[in-house]
Amino acid sequence: MQISMSNIQKSYALGEGKLTILKGISLQFAEGDYVAIIGASGSGKSTLMHILGCMDQEFEGEYLLDGQPVHSINNNTLAELRRQKLGFIFQTFNLVAKLTTRENVALPLIYNRIKRRDGIAERYLEAVGLGHRLDHYPAQMSGGERQR
Ligand code: ADP
Ligand code: MG
Repeated sequence: MQISMSNIQKSYALGEGKLTILKGISLQFAEGDYVAIIGASGSGKSTLMHILGCMDQEFEGEYLLDGQPVHSINNNTLAELRRQKLGFIFQTFNLVAKLTTRENVALPLIYNRIKRRDGIAERYLEAVGLGHRLDHYPAQMSGGERQR
């Protein structure tokens, strides 16, 4: 996937005024790039990640995903694109409380209408050392286990 941003600006309304967090971000990532975004707490990393991950469309500037302007993609197509091309690990986990570990991991497969799901979630969970926590609920897991 190719990512290209030019002059991205992001502000939050604050009282009567506005607070500008991203002030003209331009970047390019090519297929296969492995990139870390590093900065002080509160500097705008999550704000940028939400835009990169197509979860926040309220920004100025141009963001091209595989050459297509993200602002021109409608919500349904964007949801499909997120499902098929973007992976997220959230700081606050965002696990579904009423689903087990196994069910949480299998959720994207269900959204992707993959019928033969046998063992896929289990294989990924075993790969990160959670094969013994398949039927635990998020509340029954440690912080580190939830992150994994
Ligand atoms: P970080 O680099 O730590 O991930 P964030 O992108 O989460 O930083 O936040 C950047 C700044 O934007 C912070 O100072 C935060 O207080 C502010 N901010 C984040 N979300 C909002 C919001 N919804 N309204 C106003 N200010 C916000
Ligand atoms: Mg953050």
